[in-house]
Amino acid sequence: MRTYFCHGCAVINGTLLPPPKGDGLTDNSYKLDKYIKHTLPSSCGDYKTVFTGVASESYQNYIVTAVASGHVQIDSKNRINIVYVGSGTTGIALKGGKWVGDMGAVKVVCHSDTNRIHGFPIAITELSSASCIQCGKIIPY
Ligand SMILES: [Zn+2]
Repeated sequence: MRTYFCHGCAVINGTLLPPPKGDGLTDNSYKLDKYIKHTLPSSCGDYKTVFTGVASESYQNYIVTAVASGHVQIDSKNRINIVYVGSGTTGIALKGGKWVGDMGAVKVVCHSDTNRIHGFPIAITELSSASCIQCGKIIPY
């Protein structure tokens, strides 16, 4: 069972809390690993997406932005995930070190778990839509 809230309803019902700042996004090996994976382009390897911009700034900015204006999914394990659709390119996808696409959205997962919260760029084409359980508004997910 997954539950969706539009941003407005998520704010009203207190689901969205400010994310950790600065070092708080990289202060354990799990989060540091995710940070490196999604900010450092590599010249080989499996499909992955990386944020564009200066890593330390863009990573935090996109997570803060997603929490500030994204829509919410609460999954079957009660994890809070957030999707934010940007107005421009949020990152790129690489496979085997080669560019394979521009990303236009950001997903922040494990928002409520300060030990695991992390974010990554995703393609808008990977999103589907859902209805906010509170007001019925259609949101991208
Ligand atoms: Zn709503």
